[in-house]
Amino acid sequence: MSDFQSLGLPARLVGPLAAAGFTQPTKIQSQAIPFILEGRDVMGIAQTGSGKTAAFGLPILAGIMEIEERPKPRTTRALILAPTRELAVQIDESLRKFAGPKSRLQTVLLLGGVSRHHQIKRLERGMDVVIATPGRLKDLMDDNKIRLAGTQWLVLDEADRMLDMGFIVPVRQIVKAIGTERQTMMFSATMAPEVADLAKALL
Ligand code: AMP
Repeated sequence: MSDFQSLGLPARLVGPLAAAGFTQPTKIQSQAIPFILEGRDVMGIAQTGSGKTAAFGLPILAGIMEIEERPKPRTTRALILAPTRELAVQIDESLRKFAGPKSRLQTVLLLGGVSRHHQIKRLERGMDVVIATPGRLKDLMDDNKIRLAGTQWLVLDEADRMLDMGFIVPVRQIVKAIGTERQTMMFSATMAPEVADLAKALL
């Protein structure tokens, strides 16, 4: 059994990972993946480069793979919030890589500064994973283009930067719209007091 499989991940997710050069889990992956697979909320202190994307991404993909029915229009199973478009794009690329080329995983990036048209069309069919910066997501929520009630997984990536960039108000509004029947994962490079406060409120 591979090291990733012994963390509890399904074989059909682990196979393509090895082909992508992921053989040994990083520290954050070994620590977080078993907890997330158990359905627990997690707060991870981790820098970029630590492998945090796979730490939250792989258990979410494992969960999505177990669901047979398609997501309903204008909903998503998982929401990943990121402070910048660069990070959001990287997360999307990583998730597609983890899922493998034959996957039917449906994702959309909701970023400001680009046309909403394509984003709205993707949302209409129902998504497995939405990766968003807070401002554009809040705009689309206000226009009823996405309904977050029922979203099962929520990730706040680089939460410290999200707060530094002044996203606390939209983040709290977004979290409120999701409701409490969710699994929440927060990642931050530091545990500054504001991050600790947010973690206390969300986890
Ligand atoms: P991240 O911190 O999630 O941005 O990941 C940093 C880089 O490490 C990315 O290029 C990943 O593809 C790579 N990576 C993450 N986990 C592993 C692993 N277990 N084995 C090899 N490479 C990894």
